[in-house]
Formats: sequence, C-alpha cells, structure tokens
Amino acid sequence: MTKPIILNAAELPEWTHAELNAFFSVLDLPREPAAASAFLKEHGGKIRGIALRKTKIDAAFLDMLPALEIISSYSAGLDNVDVEATRARGIRIENTSHILAEDVANAAVGLALAVTRDFVNADAYVRSGQWPVQGHYRLGRSISRMKVGVVGLGTIGSAIAKRLRAFGSELAYFGPSRKSVDIPYYDDVGRLARDCDMLILTCPLTSATHHLIDASVIEALGPDGFIVNIARGPVIDEQALIAALASDKLAGAALDVFEHEPAVPEALIRDRRLILTPHIGSGTEETRRAMAENVVDALAKHFGIEGPRSGTVRDAELESAN
Ligand code: NAP
Repeated sequence: MTKPIILNAAELPEWTHAELNAFFSVLDLPREPAAASAFLKEHGGKIRGIALRKTKIDAAFLDMLPALEIISSYSAGLDNVDVEATRARGIRIENTSHILAEDVANAAVGLALAVTRDFVNADAYVRSGQWPVQGHYRLGRSISRMKVGVVGLGTIGSAIAKRLRAFGSELAYFGPSRKSVDIPYYDDVGRLARDCDMLILTCPLTSATHHLIDASVIEALGPDGFIVNIARGPVIDEQALIAALASDKLAGAALDVFEHEPAVPEALIRDRRLILTPHIGSGTEETRRAMAENVVDALAKHFGIEGPRSGTVRDAELESAN
C-alpha cells in the first residue's frame, strides 16, 4: 500500500520523526518562508495530512494544499490556524487539548499559589540569609478565601475549577456561552473582574480575546487583585498591565505566556510582584510525550493505519528508555 503523504511542520521529538516516517511519506516543510512557499507550490497538491506545531496555516496556505484532509496539532491552542477556513474546506483538525489539560491546570494552580504566597521571593529571603536578620516574612494571601474568576471555562478552565474547588475557593466564570455547570456565569468580563480577587485566563487567543484583559478590566479587579495567564500572551494588553503595576493598581500576576514571547519587557522582569515562567504550562515529560504520540496516532487513525503502538519504532524507543 502506498503511504499517505504528510507535511511535517512540527518541531517534534526525534523518535516521532522515526514513527512518522514508518507510517507516512513525510515531506519536511522548510523553515525559511520563501523556501517553504516554493516547496508547497511544488509538492502541495499531494499532501493529505499535516503534523503541526506553530506554523501559521491561513487560507493562502490551504489553497496550496487542495488534497489536505487532516491537521494534527501538537498544541491545544489553534491561534496559528485559520480554523474557519480549514473547517469550511472540510479539513479535520485534531489537537492535544484533552491530553495536556491536567498539567496545564496543575501549572495554573501552582502559579496562583506561588504569586499569592510569594514563594519565589520567600525562597530568596532564606537563601540570602535575611531570615535570621529581619525575622518573620511578610504575610501572603489565601487562595482558599478568594473568589476566582475563570476566563474561558473549557477543558483547561474546568480542570482548574475542579482543583480550586478542592482548595475552597469560590468560583465564577466568563465566556461566550453559559455552560450547564454549577459555577456562576458572567456575560461580562469587567463585571467578573469587579466581583473577583483573581482572574485565571484559559480562553483561546482569537480576535475576540485579543487584549480582552485591558486597563479597564485590571482596574475593575482592583489593587488587591491577581491575574494568572496560562492562555496566550496577547489576551492581556501587556502595556496596560505594566502601567497598572506602575501605579499599584494590581497586587500581582503570574504569567506563563507573553505578548511577544520569548521577549519579555524589562518592566515585567524587574517587578518582584510577578511570577514569570517561559510558556511551560504543558511542559512535563509525560504530557509532552503523550502529545507527540497523539500527533502520530491522530494521523494514523484518520488514514486507517494500524495503531503505532504495536511492533513499531515507538515500542523500540520505549524499550531502550526503560
Ligand atoms: P477549550 O477546551 O477550547 O476551551 C476554551 C474555552 O474558552 C471555552 O470554554 C470557550 O468557550 C472559551 N472562550 C472562547 N472564546 C472566548 C472568549 N471570547 N472569551 C472568553 N472565553 C472564551 O481550550 P483549552 O484546551 O481549555 O485551551 C485553552 C487555551 O489555553 C488554548 O487555546 C491555548 O491558547 C492555551 N494553552 C496554553 C498552554 C500553556 O502552555 N500555557 C497550554 C495549553 C493551552 P465556548 O466553549 O463557549 O466556546
């Protein structure tokens, strides 16, 4: 049987490449844009699937791939994909939202605790020898007594809500539609902010959520409020955040994502009220491995190829890892 031709546009672990090559005829997309475009003009007509990570897939890109049937993405966010244009062409999209939700939720809750209890600065306090000299460390804030607003109660937001409920936090959420859950719904993010002590951002980046958290929302949250952003950087207006911090209009924030990452503004780097992490929400060995496997499995399933788990490169790799 001839192998389906797929485009490898993902930076995946080495073993994943071996798997992809075992099941498909793989064409590697050149990184340089002009070379990529020339490559697609030449080969695009026969490509039936894409293994994707961050490459931008817009309508013009899709026009060069008339035989495309499926996009299998290594991420949960699809802000690099013109989802509407893709679906309009009947092309299937698979992502890893269901795989990474638990670890991203764990990271969000860890960040929420770190910023409210000031763990990073408290660690520095001990290491720098200030404890015996200065005495007791300043008090933190209790997430168990906070009302936390989840902005986007989807797969990750729901996993966060489940955890926060166990912590005793009061919950509320904002999103485009009311869900059948026993968490109060707000149809206005500003009102949610006004009623909450913390906002946790877990919505996708779209034109509707770009700068959703602006100066007015931060102002509504108030000077004792906290923000945790585990969604995408541009969901917060970063300049508005910097201005709010400069005038003490916010107590703190924990940011895993940034508007122009990996560039992080100096004003954020200097500010010790912030916890900053380099987009590591899903970054555990277990989850990243499962995500890579899912990229291959979704393509294999679509093309009716027997599951990669049996007698494959993956098995050999797993054995050598044991
Ligand atoms: P999901 O299951 O699709 O959930 C997204 C939620 O956001 C849905 O409840 C959706 O509501 C809501 N939403 C859509 N438009 C909105 C808007 N304009 N305002 C407020 N809420 C809105 O996605 P997910 O798997 O939870 O992932 C969410 C996002 O997290 C991803 O898109 C990605 O950008 C980010 N993420 C970050 C990391 C990281 O490492 N930091 C890792 C994974 C994902 P409806 O259901 O009503 O449409």
